[in-house]
Amino acid sequence: MAENAAVDTSGAAPEGGARYKRVLLKVSGEALMGQRDYGLDPDMIRQVAEEVRTVVRMGVQVCLVIGGGNIFRGIKGAASGMERASADYMGMLATVINALSMQSALERMGVSTRVQSAIPMSSVCEPYIRRRAIRHMEKSRVVIFAAGTGNPFFTTDTAAALRASEMGCDGLLKATQVDGVYTADPKKDPNATRYERLSYLEVLSKDLQVMDASAIALARENHIPILVFSIHTPGMFAEVMAGKGKFTIITDEERE
Ligand code: UDP
Repeated sequence: MAENAAVDTSGAAPEGGARYKRVLLKVSGEALMGQRDYGLDPDMIRQVAEEVRTVVRMGVQVCLVIGGGNIFRGIKGAASGMERASADYMGMLATVINALSMQSALERMGVSTRVQSAIPMSSVCEPYIRRRAIRHMEKSRVVIFAAGTGNPFFTTDTAAALRASEMGCDGLLKATQVDGVYTADPKKDPNATRYERLSYLEVLSKDLQVMDASAIALARENHIPILVFSIHTPGMFAEVMAGKGKFTIITDEERE
């Protein structure tokens, strides 16, 4: 676990069978598109919100980083002639739209939430304040981190690793389209096999497409395990929290 004075280091596991006390879930914008080509699918948002609610009810403190690729990616804007930094700010604004829609879905289910944005927009949500975010989680509120890191040339994967480190999370969950990390893209290669466990270094040296290299490096530095699982299997987030189900875990070689 990352060193963090605000985190309870008593080692007490939460009630409800979870092995983790505080986790960050990264959901890509694309996961929220469902079968659509662009934008948000309300059924998909509801499904993710239900997964989060189940884990909150297990007694796990949960925070979220939501991507924005379903609406805008900076690199695409840059390819069409826009200045890269401006395009990236548009991408960050897209993540705020997604965060607000996730907040609304969770609140409708009775889950208390706060959105904190790395780009302050005071009439829409709170600004990012680390200690305040920790306090919210201690009160069982789900904190949704919007606008990535607040800096162009970064991604929401890196934002996820950064916030997980700052929050003292004991797990960084990456919800993907498949149930873990594979030797090759399982949608293209029928011989691809799933890894049960990997080290950060293996992910980097084999150039496995899990998260950006900078996100992996940050998680490695702070010894935060990364757990990769499918967002399309109902109940899997809770299963992973209990150490069951199908997922790939990425940790230090010498740990766990
Ligand atoms: N972005 C950025 N800085 C950040 C996070 C995101 O500039 O710290 C921009 C970047 O343009 C990116 C877009 O926001 O393409 C959407 O984020 P991302 O591509 O990570 O979303 P995802 O792939 O998870 O949907």
